[in-house]
Amino acid sequence: MEKRTQLYEGKAKKIFATDKPDYFIVEYKDDATAGNGAKRGSIAGKGEINNRVTNHLMRLLEKEGVPTHYVKELSPIETLVKVVKIIPLEVIVRNIAAGSLAKRLGLPEGAALKKTVLEYCYKDDALGDPMVNNYHIAAMGWAGEDELAVIAGYSFTINTILSNYLKDLGIVLIDFKLEFGKTPSGAIILADEISPDTCRFWDSKTGEKLDKDRFRRDMGGVEEAYHEVLKRLIGA
Ligand code: UDP
Repeated sequence: MEKRTQLYEGKAKKIFATDKPDYFIVEYKDDATAGNGAKRGSIAGKGEINNRVTNHLMRLLEKEGVPTHYVKELSPIETLVKVVKIIPLEVIVRNIAAGSLAKRLGLPEGAALKKTVLEYCYKDDALGDPMVNNYHIAAMGWAGEDELAVIAGYSFTINTILSNYLKDLGIVLIDFKLEFGKTPSGAIILADEISPDTCRFWDSKTGEKLDKDRFRRDMGGVEEAYHEVLKRLIGA
């Protein structure tokens, strides 16, 4: 597969066209931002770790019956993916209160939730990715009601698969963000990434944060935490 024009450059990834209309190449960067771009920096080795962690988890999900955009890892920082039209929603799944939920509801971070919480945010940097609900999504036509039901169903399934898998590796899946896309034939599939940039991973024994919160909150040990996640998943 030949890498052609760059179609898009985001905060953490670039997307390239290929010589095949049904495939894109994703290239992961070491660049890191937080607070909607307010904080900028770089995490050495992040591109490679996020590429490899994402692909490892996407292959696991595929094996468990969740359709994803993953096709093939091309290099340490490049992956071949299926072309989709991204549904402009960030789907957030929460098992334990943390981050913006803890703040919004006045809960201590780490507080138990009686049930898994699903949230949607409209993907728009200029608006700061505002939280929206099913009615907004239908009113704006971002996804049909049937499509949103599929997205919610996959999100809960993904949560069960990943939580169980990570538990055995000594990691608690606190919360995470998913993005879905629509294939040319209209199927909804999982897209984007699943990495320490987009998930909260806490060590089961110590409660230590193994994710981007170390960068967001200037806690230090950022690279080490990302490496630790890769090591537990892949043994590298
Ligand atoms: N998240 C993400 N991208 C975003 C916002 C959130 O990947 O633009 C992830 C984040 O890493 C966390 C979960 O979604 O695992 C919930 O994030 P939260 O709403 O608590 O926001 P934050 O505290 O990161 O601002």
